[in-house]
Amino acid sequence: MTFESLNPATDEVVGTHPVHSPDEVEAAVARARTAAGWWAELGFAGRAERLTRWKGVLTRRAAELAEVVSAETGKPHADAMLEIILAIDHTAWAARNAPKVLGRKRRPAGLLMANQSATVEYLPLGVVGVIGPWNYPVFTPMGSIAYALAAGNAVVFKPSEYTPGVGQWLAETFASVVPEQPVFQLVTGFGETGAALCRSGVDKIAFTGSPGTGKKIMAACAETLTPVLIEAGGKDALLVDSDADVEAAADAAVWGGISNAGQTCVGIERVYVHADVYDQFVSLVVAKAQAVEVGKQIGPITMPGQVDIIRGHITDALSRGARALVGGNGSGRFVEPTILVDVPEDAAAVQEETFGPTLTVTKVSSMDEAVTKANNTRYGLGGAVFSRTNGAALARRLRSGMVSVNSVISFAGIPSLPFGGTGDSGFGRIHGPEGLREFARPQAITRQRFRAPLTLTSFRRPEKTDTRVTKLITLLHGRR
Ligand code: NAD
Repeated sequence: MTFESLNPATDEVVGTHPVHSPDEVEAAVARARTAAGWWAELGFAGRAERLTRWKGVLTRRAAELAEVVSAETGKPHADAMLEIILAIDHTAWAARNAPKVLGRKRRPAGLLMANQSATVEYLPLGVVGVIGPWNYPVFTPMGSIAYALAAGNAVVFKPSEYTPGVGQWLAETFASVVPEQPVFQLVTGFGETGAALCRSGVDKIAFTGSPGTGKKIMAACAETLTPVLIEAGGKDALLVDSDADVEAAADAAVWGGISNAGQTCVGIERVYVHADVYDQFVSLVVAKAQAVEVGKQIGPITMPGQVDIIRGHITDALSRGARALVGGNGSGRFVEPTILVDVPEDAAAVQEETFGPTLTVTKVSSMDEAVTKANNTRYGLGGAVFSRTNGAALARRLRSGMVSVNSVISFAGIPSLPFGGTGDSGFGRIHGPEGLREFARPQAITRQRFRAPLTLTSFRRPEKTDTRVTKLITLLHGRR
């Protein structure tokens, strides 16, 4: 059986791909198991050398990959290039930093075990299954793929059914630089193929997608106690304080909310603005949103079903007293940038992920109110704060995994920073040292260097040892 990927702007067929059955998925995982042993044996240096060669291919052929991304998602070529550039930088970071983050390190043995030499090392898990979304079909899965590979694992990747061609391009180019073993394989299809990957006996599943699918993935993985990493949706807020650079905040809000037609997990969906600068902010946002060229600067909505969700959020907000200062209507697969004000806080447009080019802008009388409202959703992925003096303090009060101060989404482009959320946005981290450790198992080893004066782990332990140890521990920890 096969399926087609379509260009969402034209409905033209971009490519035809197999729907892999559970048996085929299992066979891929079995091949990956052998490849994982070979890849792990290469060590950090051998893997870094190959990942660096792959990074070179991605860089030299980035424009060609951007064509595939553009065709399957509808996003402008320049936006496709941007996500590829970030993915290349992350791949380089993961390859370069894996030895330092995961390699063997000494740990202090402590006074009671002073005769021991203690170390910890992060070893590969084996085979990692990666299940990806379509909205950033290179950048998002590569946050798992590149880090899992750098940590010494083989990867079986199930891309979104909307972007199988992008997955195929990545797997083929990797195979061209690592032809010896199937270290990075592709399986394609719909939810059933993803579910089969969850049940295939992989050592971990790294999932990026919606919270609803995340729950199904966890349930499937629970059957075999397969650990999971869940990167789910968001409802990110941008806070504008009275001392903010209002022009910069408006620019960031419009780009953060409307670029990629709003189909960004860490896209800005809500803005809370201090009353002192509200009017100025709103007029700047309106002018900037009106200037966005639909069809040129933003593409169509990739997933047909999403159009109804976006329009549903807008009409629900309007029917409950909100006003659309820009947009608010339109037809077909292209949704106009839409700026909503006076939206009730319990409306879907404020509480649920819209995943479209919309922003709700809400006036607040204090930044305390802004923080409370920003934190009042089930999600907790990213966020942004604009303030000349209070940025970092406000950022710390947001219940989210990442915050940019005086910019937007910048955390995603810093490879050393962990990326991930809390609540309905999921758990676990990609990127950074945390992202490397996510795909490794820590192994603790302690080696006895000499016989201890007080041997605790023996039936030959005399009573006086117990008395001495009790005295020692009282001396160390028993003082008032
Ligand atoms: P989705 O949940 O519909 O699909 C994601 C993937 O899961 C696809 O490959 C799909 O085939 C697969 N899948 C579907 N059902 C499955 C099942 N029962 N078992 C196993 N796999 C299954 O999500 P989407 O529409 O592709 O992506 C959009 C969502 O992803 C948004 O909610 C967005 O916020 C989120 N997202 C999150 C991040 C992040 O890092 N936190 C990044 C990008 C996108």
